[in-house]
Amino acid sequence: MHLKSLVLKGFKSFADRSALSLEPGITAVVGPNGSGKSNISDAVLWVLGERNARHLRGQAMEDVIFSGSTARKPVSVAEVELVLDNSDGTLPIDYSEVSIMRRLYRSGESEYLVNGSVARRMDVLDILHDTGLGTGTHSIISQGSLDSILQSRPEDRRALIEEAAGILKHKQRKEKSARKLEQMDNHLARVRDVHAEIA
Ligand code: ATP
Repeated sequence: MHLKSLVLKGFKSFADRSALSLEPGITAVVGPNGSGKSNISDAVLWVLGERNARHLRGQAMEDVIFSGSTARKPVSVAEVELVLDNSDGTLPIDYSEVSIMRRLYRSGESEYLVNGSVARRMDVLDILHDTGLGTGTHSIISQGSLDSILQSRPEDRRALIEEAAGILKHKQRKEKSARKLEQMDNHLARVRDVHAEIA
């Protein structure tokens, strides 16, 4: 699986539709300060479901919508589409190419589309679950978080390694199952109480 293309429209400094083709291997984005390099990685994070505006270097989610410049009026919608090559079947979806699109209107409405069909954020997260991509993972590391990772406590660094090794998802499933078991124990205790009362 690899990122095949990224299309931005009305997202941060990309007022007009901008399409980037990405080849397998390493891609470097170069340009002067303030030209929008980090906005590109913000767009990848955003389309994959990021909902914390601070992780996108903003105060509110609306900050991702192009807010105007001396030459251009603000726009009312931000749109990012990411196309992933899935010819190796890494993603659990029966398509050799998977398009994920996210839109946000200034009114606050937002939507996700997966291969053109309306989807929920949860659907996007599910598709990316085992891939190491997506929010909360460290496939995108900002300049600021690099320092905090280097200075992090050993336990936090261990969590990072577990995530990279794919152990995290099993831990999360284990915790979910433990919570369910606890709930079942509570239900059982309640049933025993009721049984004792009527017996
Ligand atoms: P550096 O090399 O200094 O890290 P960069 O190339 O990574 O810079 P970015 O941080 O991606 O640059 O882009 C910053 C630019 O994006 C600024 O000019 C800022 O005004 C512009 N920008 C960010 N959000 C918006 C928005 N919502 N509307 C219009 N422009 C925006």
